[in-house]
Amino acid sequence: MRCRLSSPPRAPTPTRNNFPGTSNAAAAGGLTPKKESFAMIIVMQAEATQPELDRVVARVESLGLRPHVIVGTERTVVAVVGDERDASQSGLATLPGVASVMPILAPYKVASREVQPEPTVVTAGPLAVGGPSIGVIAGPCSVESREQIVETAKAVKAAGATGLRGGAFKPRTSPYSFQGMKEKGLELLAEARAETGLAVVTEVVAPEDVPLVARYADVLQVGARNMQNYRLLEAVGRTSTPVLLKRGPAATVEELLLAAEYILDAGNRQVMLCERGIRTFESHTRFTLPLATVPWLHARTHLPVVVDPSHGTGHANLIESMAAASVAAGADGLIVEVHPDPKCATSDAAQTIDLPAFTRMMEVCRRVAAAVGRTM
Ligand code: PEP
Ligand code: MN
Repeated sequence: MRCRLSSPPRAPTPTRNNFPGTSNAAAAGGLTPKKESFAMIIVMQAEATQPELDRVVARVESLGLRPHVIVGTERTVVAVVGDERDASQSGLATLPGVASVMPILAPYKVASREVQPEPTVVTAGPLAVGGPSIGVIAGPCSVESREQIVETAKAVKAAGATGLRGGAFKPRTSPYSFQGMKEKGLELLAEARAETGLAVVTEVVAPEDVPLVARYADVLQVGARNMQNYRLLEAVGRTSTPVLLKRGPAATVEELLLAAEYILDAGNRQVMLCERGIRTFESHTRFTLPLATVPWLHARTHLPVVVDPSHGTGHANLIESMAAASVAAGADGLIVEVHPDPKCATSDAAQTIDLPAFTRMMEVCRRVAAAVGRTM
């Protein structure tokens, strides 16, 4: 087998025990246990003034609770998260400008549609996910060379993608597999962006790498293996860079929403959820891609939903059908692995499509998008 493009030359996840009814601190040394968490929505009156809103926010903060102001098209609400004891006797409902105060019933709070009925649109340069147009992110599993990433970027842009994917830090199942080009890979992604204008979507695997990756990335990808790496979620949550959060292959969708909540609660509201397939007894595909996740999530959260048919199936010949099915199911975005010479891709070759196949996939998906009232 001969490869057209040159390949590049050739690194743990924190764990945490959660015992019901105890906090880690309490378990470790008899410290004060964490109080019950609590969340409510303060709905402001339509005619409430900015000083009235500021006063509500100040009161919430003075109670030791965290306010998240969400300005909607019809109303402004303040989602309040904190400890129940601090919220009792707060008198928030009687402050000027407040229309009502009600509990948030869902276990995830800021992510809930109860808090924000309008969809969140995540934007990064030309990439917009969550609006009427479907955002497409395409590119290789791993960045391998300048030639590979620039050629891919130009072709996927011509076919209609607005985001360029490419892993520079790769979370590999085996420590002996290619781990990514690291900072050199980020530099090559930035070069491809300079040539095409595409938004760069790339994975960050560790909290300490967040500042470096955020210097180059337009969207920080948190991979499936790291969906419950809480320190990483908090670290990306402290940035203002949009985040693509992939579902863990053994995580429920409720756990996915609670993982997103870590990012939102840390202050970053630009979060996209990604269905990338789960592990089941089925073996004809690499993972099982459950598309019912898309409408289920849309009913419960305002966050946009992206589908990854590449990892979701593991087979290049299934990508076009499952991308089209994702669009039909209401996906707000797609993330697809594309390479100029897939058989020689350094990682995930079997599920990677070539440039003409990507163009064909886009044409099919565009027709499905039109049928369900979207564009792409
Ligand atoms: C990837 O996008 O290349 C990747 C590693 O995906 P996941 O985290 O879904 O396995
Ligand atoms: Mn991959």
